[in-house]
Amino acid sequence: MTNRQELIVKNVDANKQMILDAERWLWAHPQTGYTEWEANAYLTEKFEALGYELTQAGNIPGFWTTVDTGKPGPRLAIFGELDALDIANHPESVNGMTHCCAHHGQGAALLGIAAALKEPGALDGLSGSIKLIAVPAEEMIQLAFREDLRKQGIIKYNGGKVEFMYRGVLDDCDIAMMVHGGAAGPDEAFDFSCGFGFNGCMAKTIKFKGKSSHAGGAPHLGVNAQYAAMLGLQACNDLRETLQEKDTIRFHPIMMGVNVAVNIIPDEMKIESYVRGRTLEAIKRENKKFNRALTGAALAMGAGVELCDRPGYAPEIHDLKFMQLVEQCCKELVGDDRVKFNYTDWGTGSSDFGDITCVMPGVQFFSMGAVGTGHGIDYFITDPNRLCVNSAKAQLFVAEKLLENEAVVAKEIIANYKPEFTSIPEYLKAIDEISLDKDAVTYDENGNAKVDFQNI
Ligand SMILES: [Zn+2]
Ligand SMILES: [Zn+2]
Repeated sequence: MTNRQELIVKNVDANKQMILDAERWLWAHPQTGYTEWEANAYLTEKFEALGYELTQAGNIPGFWTTVDTGKPGPRLAIFGELDALDIANHPESVNGMTHCCAHHGQGAALLGIAAALKEPGALDGLSGSIKLIAVPAEEMIQLAFREDLRKQGIIKYNGGKVEFMYRGVLDDCDIAMMVHGGAAGPDEAFDFSCGFGFNGCMAKTIKFKGKSSHAGGAPHLGVNAQYAAMLGLQACNDLRETLQEKDTIRFHPIMMGVNVAVNIIPDEMKIESYVRGRTLEAIKRENKKFNRALTGAALAMGAGVELCDRPGYAPEIHDLKFMQLVEQCCKELVGDDRVKFNYTDWGTGSSDFGDITCVMPGVQFFSMGAVGTGHGIDYFITDPNRLCVNSAKAQLFVAEKLLENEAVVAKEIIANYKPEFTSIPEYLKAIDEISLDKDAVTYDENGNAKVDFQNI
């Protein structure tokens, strides 16, 4: 370790108890995306106690602040996500919610970074600035609630990071990083990991519409929306063999349930799903097939179907040079054998950090400390020191390497990065084209149908 790295370790360790306290507090106060007001208030108080002036997003949770070195140079964005998951069966759920994706650990680490940057000598020799961003709503869940927020004009996008991009929060940033929590089993003794990237995704709400009637006495007077939905999903499943490996498409429809009774033909069945894939082009291409299949199923049953598609997240692609730098920093912190970076590994989940890497170089890596299954009821934090304290140290090691020596390394990574989109407005325009609202099957008085399932 260099003298500067030893100072970073010392500066974080000086604030270790605050980080560990924050981890426990945030774990105990989980709230889902765009409602994380408790975490927002807690972290706001802690940041302000450290002497930070914050800008609040205001009508949604989230805030940011900039640490300026006083010397010109690039601006590095560091994210800490705020949101939890809806998972009522988790033994430690609070009001049906739990941090079983460990986003709470990101808030604790961000606080640790903020505290360490206030310690004497922390910014010596650095150029440029660091923007610390507490961001809501990474998990793209509760699509109906978010659609309500959208209709009220509170948000435009489902994901917190793309919403912050839309609001201009990232306009002054040049490069970005974040650390997500991870679970490693007892036979997987490592502290940090990272893959090449993740699938992008889009969000779908599908509503099959039928006609209610007596299920025993007069089913002939009804139209069974549940059967239409089942037929639609069967057709989508049969299309899976037309999907290509290279696109890593994932379609995982979940029936959301409706108000039903055993003696009434259901007149509505709602489904939520994502279409995930390796490129936005593949997502859009395959989604069109799924929409056609769902439309055909509604027509077969004499039902209707409302299709509502919304932008999700862009594919996340890590900059190679930046990833190598992060790997080196992790190894310098915990040792070569405790770091697992894989430069070809592609994850089929999605993160709105992908929206960030669409326009600037970025790396999202993982710090261990949890056990169990991510998004599962067996997910717990067993080593908050690895999860949060190590995470803060590693991120500060990376910030140091990027911004030391007139920020020469950061400047080089930024100059060589070839983003998918040249600007945030260009990216937003591209994903806006995903939005679709169609009543896909309409019938005339003779029972002839008109189908309309795509934007033309
Ligand atoms: Zn998650
Ligand atoms: Zn997550």
